[in-house]
Amino acid sequence: MKCHKCDQKAVYKNQGLLLCKNHFLDYFEAKVFKTIKKYKMFSNEDTVCIAASGGKDSLAVLYMTSQYCKKYNINHFALAIDEGIAGYRDHTIEDLKEFCERYDIRLEIISFKEKFGSTLDQVREKALKEYNKKPCTVCGILRRTYLNRYALKLNATKLVTGHNLDDESQSFLMNTLLGNMRHNASLGPITGLTTNDKFVPRVKPLYFISEQETRLFCLLKEFKVDFTECPNIGLSFRANVRDQLNEIENKFPGAKNGMVNAFLEILPTLKEKYKETKPFSYCEKCGEPCTGKVCNACLLEEQLVVRKI
Ligand code: SF4
Ligand SMILES: [Zn+2]
Ligand SMILES: [Zn+2]
Repeated sequence: MKCHKCDQKAVYKNQGLLLCKNHFLDYFEAKVFKTIKKYKMFSNEDTVCIAASGGKDSLAVLYMTSQYCKKYNINHFALAIDEGIAGYRDHTIEDLKEFCERYDIRLEIISFKEKFGSTLDQVREKALKEYNKKPCTVCGILRRTYLNRYALKLNATKLVTGHNLDDESQSFLMNTLLGNMRHNASLGPITGLTTNDKFVPRVKPLYFISEQETRLFCLLKEFKVDFTECPNIGLSFRANVRDQLNEIENKFPGAKNGMVNAFLEILPTLKEKYKETKPFSYCEKCGEPCTGKVCNACLLEEQLVVRKI
């Protein structure tokens, strides 16, 4: 089959669109840049921190964001959180270091071991047995907190994440299945826009890019990517939702796209309904904004830490 734009062999097919390697790479870049511009994700007044892990989504978003920032002269750097997951994160962090050197991107690395006192592997069993907390819950809370905390410390004004169309459709469906519409109100291509200067707004340039497109992009660009999954993913609710959604997408191509576009139509209504009216309270331990007396990250530290540094 041939590309719709030239005589070359097609490497990409999606809902009737066929593209060769070069036209797919152009299409990918145009789609990401259009999303950045449409949602005014960042400008040359910002310092952009790109959350990176070395996985395929993170390399794709890191590459595209740094290309955009270099083109428009915007300050930017990569920030990686090393959770301490043996046989997985150690490999992706090595790939990330090589990648950042190759493309001349400043890289900062923060590790759970250093900041939390233990690796995720070290607290995994205790979290499950004593507190019924799955590794992804622990990982998610600490990652989110550290990304915000260290982006802020490094003077970033925007935090870029590699969330793509698949992640967003999964999150929307997970929250909906759990009856948690309030959490859906905090999804979207740009989040965390509050008047509170302790939050760095988060933006998602890959918002309309599917997992399959990211994978193809990384392969065609010949990025060194370890496609193995985190060993903890199987325990998560997300993995189940992801598999079901993939089955639906295989039978009804375009379903994820349809779901995310429908979600964007109702997002303004959800934001209005669930907008914060209470003043922020601050964690007694770390001083960061939270809903109770102590934030979730400090609570985890109290419950799980093996050796506090
Ligand atoms: S799968 Fe879970 S434990 Fe693994 S990196 Fe993702 S959130 Fe963390
Ligand atoms: Zn072509
Ligand atoms: Zn705290």
